[in-house]
Amino acid sequence: MKPAFIMFFGPPGCGKGTQAKKIVETVDLAQISTGELFRKHLGEKTPLGLEAQKYMSRGALVPDEITIGMVRERIMQPDCKNGAIFDGFPRTGAQAAALDKLLAELGTSLGMVVDFKLPIEVSRQRLMARQEGRADDKPEVIEKRLADHAEVEQSVMPHYHAQAGLVRDVDANRTIDEIFDDVLALIKSCMDQ
Ligand code: AMP
Repeated sequence: MKPAFIMFFGPPGCGKGTQAKKIVETVDLAQISTGELFRKHLGEKTPLGLEAQKYMSRGALVPDEITIGMVRERIMQPDCKNGAIFDGFPRTGAQAAALDKLLAELGTSLGMVVDFKLPIEVSRQRLMARQEGRADDKPEVIEKRLADHAEVEQSVMPHYHAQAGLVRDVDANRTIDEIFDDVLALIKSCMDQ
């Protein structure tokens, strides 16, 4: 079977992290969440984590070089042999180009982009209500992350929309289970190819 590498795209609070977690409990793919990897590094106080914190605490993107290096290391781990779901990556044109290159080195390519569609107002309400206690779930940081997301969309989605049939939309303004049914069907179709 060909490995399936899939990118989840959507505004903060759209539930793509939750869906990625549920998917990897169901199918044999790894989850590569750059936000979670940075938080893990920070929790362990690694030099990378401490460097990333300077950017994360103000809702800014961590520099490409650091982010790409971390993904490169993660993708080489054995649990990624059947593929992975990228959650929160790529967020810049340079990251998208680096991901293409990385996957080409592995003899594969991105199989699908799942675009979680959510109105910005709903995204804002969900982030305001989020009780995870994340340091960046603060009103001023939330506004910055929402604005940044619009920028990220401009930077990476044209690259993927240029590839016919690659981007698949999912209505994220529904319950977790409803969204999951659709996402799982999409992932399975990608893994069967
Ligand atoms: P997230 O959990 O995806 O919302 O990410 C939390 C924070 O981690 C972001 O606000 C950024 O500071 C950083 N981060 C996560 N993914 C990336 C990425 N692909 N590129 C740069 N910074 C990132």
